[in-house]
Amino acid sequence: MKIALIIVDMLNDFVTGSLACDRGKAIVPNLAKLIKAARGNGVYVIYSNDSHIKDIDKELILWGEHAIRGTAGAEIIPELAAESSDFIVPKRRYSGFFQTDLQLLLSELKVNTVVLTGLHAHMCVRHTAADAFNFGYEIIVPKDATDSFTEEDYVIGIKYLREVYGAEITDVESLIAKWK
Ligand code: ZN
Repeated sequence: MKIALIIVDMLNDFVTGSLACDRGKAIVPNLAKLIKAARGNGVYVIYSNDSHIKDIDKELILWGEHAIRGTAGAEIIPELAAESSDFIVPKRRYSGFFQTDLQLLLSELKVNTVVLTGLHAHMCVRHTAADAFNFGYEIIVPKDATDSFTEEDYVIGIKYLREVYGAEITDVESLIAKWK
């Protein structure tokens, strides 16, 4: 089993910027632990990051300006900064797979299992899970390393991931214990 830890949209705009979310802030320590364990145990670390084009991307009409390519808002939060061995895959839609390098990268790395984390459980994580499912990946979601704007959205997101994509819902501590 070859695993990739995918961290979705843990960017300044989503955590402290224009779409700031306290629930997003709350998962940072767990994500830091998980990323560290991944690097130390042969699990690939891949950041799936919004990188929008101003005045063009459709999402911006719905959500307002956020994560505009080249701005500080589109950078990974400092607490979870990428290291040279990690991968960063920019995206312009909810799904980390849609017209990005992600599928090519995962196939070259011979990954068959993705661990989906970050923001938001009912939106970008969910759309990324949809494509991961369609491409045939096993999906694991540590429920304390993803969240949404509200408890309701979070609960809906996790339920959907489990029921529709067969995601294994676990937690950060259990996952780290398995990797060691
Ligand atoms: Zn976006």
